[in-house]
Amino acid sequence: MKPVLVVGAGPVGLATALSLAHQGVPVQVIEAEPALTLDQRAGSYHPPTLEMLAPFGVTEAMHEIGIKVPRWQIRDRRKGVIVEWDLGLIADLTPYPYRFHLEQHRLTPILYEKLKAFPHAQVRFSTGFVDATQSGDAVTVKTTSGELTTPWLIGCDGGRSTVRKHLGTPFEGFTWPERFVVISTLADFAQHGFTSNAYVADPREWAAVFHMPGLWRLAFPVHPEENEVDVLADEAIEARMQRFVARPEPYDIPYASIYRVHQRVAKDWRVGRILLAGDAAHLNNPLGAFGLNGGLHDAILLAGYLGRVWRGEADASLLDLYVRQRRTANVEFVQTQSIGNKKMLEEADPAAREETFAGLRRIAADREAARDFLIKSSMIWSVRRAGEVA
Ligand SMILES: Cc1cc2nc3c(=O)[nH]c(=O)nc-3n(C[C@H](O)[C@H](O)[C@H](O)COP(=O)(O)OP(=O)(O)OC[C@H]3O[C@@H](n4cnc5c(N)ncnc54)[C@H](O)[C@@H]3O)c2cc1C
Repeated sequence: MKPVLVVGAGPVGLATALSLAHQGVPVQVIEAEPALTLDQRAGSYHPPTLEMLAPFGVTEAMHEIGIKVPRWQIRDRRKGVIVEWDLGLIADLTPYPYRFHLEQHRLTPILYEKLKAFPHAQVRFSTGFVDATQSGDAVTVKTTSGELTTPWLIGCDGGRSTVRKHLGTPFEGFTWPERFVVISTLADFAQHGFTSNAYVADPREWAAVFHMPGLWRLAFPVHPEENEVDVLADEAIEARMQRFVARPEPYDIPYASIYRVHQRVAKDWRVGRILLAGDAAHLNNPLGAFGLNGGLHDAILLAGYLGRVWRGEADASLLDLYVRQRRTANVEFVQTQSIGNKKMLEEADPAAREETFAGLRRIAADREAARDFLIKSSMIWSVRRAGEVA
């Protein structure tokens, strides 16, 4: 039998391939770029994701270089800390009661190394998906370096997915008017009272703060009238950082970049023998760190189900269950919660802000309510919810 074809060697494609290979399923990954990409986007992982990656030795390898973040804050730009959450409160529910910080471009080499250990797994770089035709039990795939056939194709080729476009399925949702600028700095925000992850509310210039190994990353909104070149100019970055936390010396800024942000879910995640996972299937704003985590949850569930179909233990309708379960988790949790997080941070009405902050303080003061909040914000609820879908 020809190998399963995974399009895209991003974290979702590599995790899908690794889980398939682990089950003995032959798999080939094609990646348009000549090497793994140096992606600065994701970096914050939730407990269920660490649990799902553990059987492959990935979680252990991540722990050798990443940072545990047991506590995180919701703050107001002027008033300081509103609430501080402690994931120790849900230590009975997971072996990993913390958020975990490691940049996406440091996760992909771990996944790639683990995958390379399997002789029935192959990654082909500089090979882009172009087009496909399905007939009978095969998909014939045109790539930038020749033709391939496969019984199953999984599109993990990111937000601009060529596989999704080939399927012609609508990518339903919207694009935010603001873009996000992400700034990395060598400055240490712990000395200003920040936990390693913090969300800072402000009607004009909210912020999200992440401590990564060796640096801190901050995300701010870029308003529609702001020009990208002006925003990324050294003096503008410096002024933005000084406005956020003033300090006598200038900030060291190794890099900064701007992202357009969407809330979109593909209508169809499966058409015959072609499936979608990760950003190819759904996009959300990064407030709450749900995008890659959700994509990895897709990867592990889909690979598990496809393994059963491959071995003849289940028929192909099991793949529709993947779609129902993961699409529900995305629409009901990831989309709703990430939109809610953004609205909470940018609320402009002072009375509504105070009401939200009072509500958060009440939750934090009540052990059961705080546990519920952490179960949701740590994505435990969304994995449970997916599991309920039949
Ligand atoms: C600023 C920002 C911060 C974020 N922070 C977080 C976070 O902390 N936590 C979190 O969970 N999520 C976060 N996200 C979201 C996260 O980055 C994405 O969800 C994640 O990268 C999706 O992984 P993926 O493998 O699906 O797609 P990608 O990482 O985009 O990988 C797709 C791969 O496919 C390849 N490819 C594309 N087209 C083709 C083709 N035609 N043929 C072959 N290969 C192709 C690409 O080169 C790439 O290697 C953030 C996003 C942004 C913008």
